[in-house]
Amino acid sequence: MAIADEDDDPFEEQKEKAEAPMRRLFAEYGRENAFQFLVGVFGSVVARLLDLIPPFLLGFAIDAILRDDKPFTLLFVPDSWTTELPQATQLWIAIGIIGLGFFGGAAFHWIRNWGWNSFAQNIQHSIRTDTYDKMQRLNMDFFADKQTGELISILSNDVNRLERFLNEGMNSAFRLSIMVLGIAVILFILNPQLALVALLPVPLIALTTYKFIEIIQPKYKAVRKTVGQVNSRLENNLGGISVIKTANTEDYESDRVDDVSGDYFDANWDAIGTRIKFFPSLRILAGIGFVVTFAVGGFWVLFWENSRTAPLFFSGRLTVGEFVTFILLTQRFIWPMAQFGSIINMYQRAYSSASRIFGLMDEPSRIAEDPAAEGLAVGRGNVRYDDVTFGYEDEETIVEDVTFEVDGGDTVALVGPTGAGKSTVLKLLLRMYDVDEGAITIDGQDLREVTIPSLRKAIGYVSQDTFLFYGTVEENIQYGTFGASREEVVEAAKMAEAHEFITNLPEGYDTEVGERGVKLSGGQRQRISIARAILKDPEILVLDEATSDVDTETEMLIQRSINDITADRTTFAIAHRLSTIKDADKIVVLEDGRIVERGTHEELLDNDGLYANLWGVQAGEIDELPREFIERAARRRSHVDVDEDGMDEVEPEILDD
Ligand code: ADP
Repeated sequence: MAIADEDDDPFEEQKEKAEAPMRRLFAEYGRENAFQFLVGVFGSVVARLLDLIPPFLLGFAIDAILRDDKPFTLLFVPDSWTTELPQATQLWIAIGIIGLGFFGGAAFHWIRNWGWNSFAQNIQHSIRTDTYDKMQRLNMDFFADKQTGELISILSNDVNRLERFLNEGMNSAFRLSIMVLGIAVILFILNPQLALVALLPVPLIALTTYKFIEIIQPKYKAVRKTVGQVNSRLENNLGGISVIKTANTEDYESDRVDDVSGDYFDANWDAIGTRIKFFPSLRILAGIGFVVTFAVGGFWVLFWENSRTAPLFFSGRLTVGEFVTFILLTQRFIWPMAQFGSIINMYQRAYSSASRIFGLMDEPSRIAEDPAAEGLAVGRGNVRYDDVTFGYEDEETIVEDVTFEVDGGDTVALVGPTGAGKSTVLKLLLRMYDVDEGAITIDGQDLREVTIPSLRKAIGYVSQDTFLFYGTVEENIQYGTFGASREEVVEAAKMAEAHEFITNLPEGYDTEVGERGVKLSGGQRQRISIARAILKDPEILVLDEATSDVDTETEMLIQRSINDITADRTTFAIAHRLSTIKDADKIVVLEDGRIVERGTHEELLDNDGLYANLWGVQAGEIDELPREFIERAARRRSHVDVDEDGMDEVEPEILDD
């Protein structure tokens, strides 16, 4: 039977690579929980066998005590204790054993549930933490084409599905096998001929269940797909609620939700229609089995009582007690069979989840640390880009032949139009990605030959969009420098011009921020992020549009502290407002992934190239960029290759290295 699966699984690639995921689940995680597993198995077996005592003993007691058809002998009990006692005492013994059977059953059901639940919960916990651990170490390009929701779905839905299978699925599987086997054995011992009659519906039930699964699978698949569509639509709409309101499109969106929800309704109703026919069909089959067993058994008892013969082609005797046991057990026998389907279903879903999880765990890291890597030792902080070429995907080159050097303690600014590759150049320094060609070195050490933690420790990174974690303002500033004292935090916040607004918050540095806490403006968040970087006190500082969200006045204030912080620290800065970087020791102008100019502010103004024109526009000296730059930008956007000759025109003359 095909493995149940979602359409358009974003993890298809990972899933295909995962081999024998269920075997791995038990081999890698089952082993350390073997004790719980064995308790579960043991509890299941004993509990189910104890369940069979009352119906079995009831029939036996009828024959031996009430009707005196057989001697009252019990396994493990000396005959002198039973046969020779008065009938009433024998009955009390039978009643006592039946009672003990129920009590013992209850105790072992508890043991069984403890075993399976702790087995499943332990594995759920280990798998969730292991998967998260692996996930956060994967490269950025893994996250690029995945939605956050899809990743969360692995950590919650898939992990929970495995838990369900390991608990309920395994539990049911054992119940099914023990009940079916145990009852079949008892029935055959009591009367093999009538046992065959009672088991007659079994193949029919198995066939019906199989057919049911075959029919319901694609319907469930359709349901899951439409659920996904409903969720995406709702998530998207609620996220964009302000756009919906301002565009006045509530009715339009209500219709769209109505549409997808209607699809879900139809798909679900289709599945429900099949499902609600399945259980009554099983009931009919079970009922036929029951009626036939009752009829054959009943007449058998009657025939024997009247004429000491068996009906039809049967032979031998059937006692009243055996008949009662048969009737009680046949009823108990049919229902576990009906669960066969849901166990298979659970197994298939667990299989699918396990292959997604193990596929993800096997995902190779594109940025692998060299086993011989040593800690980065930053001396003066010289950084050198040597013929660096890089593309996110194989085909498209984003950064090409970039060569420049920053002397220790200097500030270099990267300037250029949006999409020129400025951020990418800096991400390569942090080794978010590895260069395709060329090399980046810090004080002569190739980034690929140093350990990643030592590299990231040496670099402070302030980006355009600042992410705040749930927690207080103080915790957010301390993030990554966990041992810092309140004084140090305040000091850093003062330098980042954040102290004043923080003290105005309801609880100052102890104010909760993040999604559920106090809302901070973009500029306030950026200042917290700058304070975070100041506190970290790194050897190299990377400011990627670090002040893009703050107003000009605050920017000027922050700029002063930034000047202090960057004074004798190697700094990389990207800024749209060129006034903030005009004092940089070196300005590198990028266009379409290549360096087109470099020099100091004055030198570049004299050069009258892209920089001088960008400066002119921002300073209000010229109204717009000259046509040649705009046309080049337009060509770039339409994905026409940049004319090499055109590039040469602005090829820098003031190369300083
Ligand atoms: P800048 O910082 O100069 O605006 P970026 O370095 O952000 O430029 O982007 C340069 C180019 O790389 C753009 O065309 C952008 O679409 C592309 N790009 C940026 N990030 C990614 C990514 N994670 N995956 C694929 N392409 C990307």
